[in-house]
Amino acid sequence: MDQQDVIVVGAGNAALCAALSAREAGARVTVLERAPVAERGGNSTFTAGAIRVAYGSVDDLVELIPDLSEEEKRTTDFGTYSEDQYFDDLARVTQHRGDPDLVELLVRRSHPTLKWLRGNGVRFVPIYGRQAFKVGGKFKFWGGLTVEVSGGGPGLVEALHTAAERAGIEVLYEARAVALLADDRGVTGVRVRQKGKTRELRAKAVILACGGFEANAEWRTRYLGPNWDLAKVRGTRFNTGDGIRMALEIGAQPRGNWSGCHAVSWDRNAPEFGDLAVGDQFQKHSYPFGIMINARGERFVDEGAEFRNYTYAKYGRAVLEQPGQFAWQIFDPDHQGRGRHHRAIGRASRRRRQAGVPAYRRGIQSRGAPRHSLRPQRQGRARRGGAENPQEQLGEHDRHPAVPGLRGDVRHHLHVRRAADHQ
Ligand SMILES: Cc1cc2nc3c(=O)[nH]c(=O)nc-3n(C[C@H](O)[C@H](O)[C@H](O)COP(=O)(O)OP(=O)(O)OC[C@H]3O[C@@H](n4cnc5c(N)ncnc54)[C@H](O)[C@@H]3O)c2cc1C
Repeated sequence: MDQQDVIVVGAGNAALCAALSAREAGARVTVLERAPVAERGGNSTFTAGAIRVAYGSVDDLVELIPDLSEEEKRTTDFGTYSEDQYFDDLARVTQHRGDPDLVELLVRRSHPTLKWLRGNGVRFVPIYGRQAFKVGGKFKFWGGLTVEVSGGGPGLVEALHTAAERAGIEVLYEARAVALLADDRGVTGVRVRQKGKTRELRAKAVILACGGFEANAEWRTRYLGPNWDLAKVRGTRFNTGDGIRMALEIGAQPRGNWSGCHAVSWDRNAPEFGDLAVGDQFQKHSYPFGIMINARGERFVDEGAEFRNYTYAKYGRAVLEQPGQFAWQIFDPDHQGRGRHHRAIGRASRRRRQAGVPAYRRGIQSRGAPRHSLRPQRQGRARRGGAENPQEQLGEHDRHPAVPGLRGDVRHHLHVRRAADHQ
């Protein structure tokens, strides 16, 4: 291959957006994907596809969702999510630790960026099934999260790959970048190993968009701490920190929060890495409707500290810190149908047999989980929310804090697992 203008390492959302953008600017671009075609797209393929975007009116949403119908506009209160709200949420959740320049870019460019994605064939829909409930006959969105990609992560990656192909961007599969080529002039290319053969590719610019070190148990333990090797990875197995290592090897300066990560509660019986057939549905996120206890029967987080959207990504770490690295979520019968744990995943969410349940719990009644999906809108338009009572409609992003009066009442429903995951 002759010299390229740009080589992009990785083929997830970040990489494909970078590749398309470089191509738009006239560059010749090659993308290196470590995974085979069937597993391409990294964690972007696993994502649920929810995207936070600032908007001031329905008209702003229509620019992203041109097929929003008149009836949907009439029967829905989409509210607004201003740039100020977005800034406030980021500041609160990160305790003001976000990089100011990156935060500024993320917020101010959120709407134009989604418009640009739309222009590249990515279709958006309102998240009726997860972020809206019915009040007085009208669907009402909450939590500033209104838009998702049609078809979730697989839909996103498919659309971007189609755009890349149309733009003439070459994608090499099973092509693992192993080192950056650099000299006094800077980076001049990449050493790549593809199907057992190593070669050097030259380029004027190299973009690293190959994820973090989440799938590297040794690095997780090294940087996040003890027991992180035991955490399950909810996404791709290919993100082992190569990009970070390659950059450090040529003298890049380490930045960011090396001992922190996004970690959620995850099914104890889930496989070690993500399973695309199940996606993000191993999540165990219904704690705002009940309590979480550890193996000693002790509570260890405030389940109702905030809307679930703002706590779930840090409670995975709290679970991992418990004895045996697991927890139970406990609900009373009123909870039936409100939370994600009701989604039965035959391959992983086996309820414990009586014999496997500790003696102190043998009296607990285990109830069957209904087989409905709270988020069936993976393909095409989102399912609409339904119940008049907000609490009955809430799905993945539970809105209500802990159920009042439940604390101490552990007679009922036992259906949970351990979990910690990390990306
Ligand atoms: C289950 C799940 C649900 C999620 N839900 C959401 C959500 O609803 N909303 C949201 O905003 N975020 C969500 N996320 C997070 C989101 O998926 C990621 O933040 C985002 O996809 C990261 O994109 P990326 O392009 O940086 O990395 P990735 O999509 O992970 O792409 C990394 C790419 O690099 C490749 N690669 C790795 N090493 C090499 C190498 N040496 N050479 C060549 N290629 C290499 C990988 O194969 C992959 O193609 C979720 C994540 C998971 C796992």
